[in-house]
Amino acid sequence: MRKLQQLAMISLLFVAPLAREEPAIVIRAGMLLDGKGGVQRGVSIVVQGSKIVKLSSQTSSPTYDLRTLTILPGLIDTHVHISYHFGQDGRASNRGETPAQEAFYAAENAYLTLMAGFTTVQSVGAAADVPLREAIARGTLPGPQILTSIRTLNENSGTPDQLRELVRKLKTEGADVVKIFASKSIRDGGAQTMTDEQLIAVCGEAKAQGLRTMVHAHAAGAIKAAVHAGCGQIEHGVFVDDESLKLMAERGVYFDPNIGLVIQNYLRNKSRFLGIGNYTEEGFAQMEKAIALNNALIKKAVATPGLKLVLGTDAVAGAHGRNADELIARVREGGQKPLDAITSATSLAAKSLNLENNIGTLAPGFEADLIAVDGDPMRDITALTRVVFVMKSGKVYKNVR
Ligand SMILES: [Zn+2]
Repeated sequence: MRKLQQLAMISLLFVAPLAREEPAIVIRAGMLLDGKGGVQRGVSIVVQGSKIVKLSSQTSSPTYDLRTLTILPGLIDTHVHISYHFGQDGRASNRGETPAQEAFYAAENAYLTLMAGFTTVQSVGAAADVPLREAIARGTLPGPQILTSIRTLNENSGTPDQLRELVRKLKTEGADVVKIFASKSIRDGGAQTMTDEQLIAVCGEAKAQGLRTMVHAHAAGAIKAAVHAGCGQIEHGVFVDDESLKLMAERGVYFDPNIGLVIQNYLRNKSRFLGIGNYTEEGFAQMEKAIALNNALIKKAVATPGLKLVLGTDAVAGAHGRNADELIARVREGGQKPLDAITSATSLAAKSLNLENNIGTLAPGFEADLIAVDGDPMRDITALTRVVFVMKSGKVYKNVR
């Protein structure tokens, strides 16, 4: 045994100097927002391989001199549909498309999202997310790190026992999260659809399997049922009331209202959606009403003590790459403090994904996912739409200073 150890030591002595260490990259920041509410000036970030190794006060001869810019962690969107796109006829129905065509549209969305400064997204509801997740993880195709639910579960997915079985199946298929529809679409009124028993089955089994859960819910009753069932995150919540906001805060459930991008995008692109499924004139009328409801809801949500407001946009066709619009609206309409909005899209979003030790914070040991924006987002939140530098896992994907 001793001999083996000695041999190992000797071989290390010979191998170590030969092991090629990548040279460190030093990025000089003007202002640095660490993703946890901290603000620093006059620092440089030292990156080795895919990781941040230190923040240093050394400012001479950086690899990238970004002293006129604000550096922050790569942004995280916890709710997108990365494959949704307008097809060759300009419509969202994508009729007659081949899988190869679909794959390239999804890759385009991934590219747009990364260029907008989003280095991680959670995509909820498409099996096509899996090969895209793997392709990007191979390190050549530019795109954000992708987490996916692969499919979605709803009131028609089965009995409580069947639902538990489906959750276990998702686990073996490599799902990162379980996406659940507990209420109707906002275009159909948003009432609760799944029974309390179904919700308890899904969220209980997911917890047992170590899977996170996120729940589409509009009606206050559906939100409360999902929280009581032990689900982890609530999406949309157009009809949320004070009681359900308080309940989410008390139970530490993440809340992701989508007030600044998705509905505006539907209205902007009405002709591309109209006539598909529930995208009817009546459905659009419901969405127009939802804008005012959303503006009222975000004010109440921001004012709810202890509520974990996390960034998610529900980005669909036409919205990819405009994800930061959601943050702008939360600040402008909801009165959220810009630094809190940034935290909701960085360290808090990372925590909602159980990735708080890997991403969402600029500190030694974290993944080198960082962006630089032109301007001070604390004074002007729209600076988040002026992303001029993107590094993901230590690799620079954008540098357009
Ligand atoms: Zn969605």
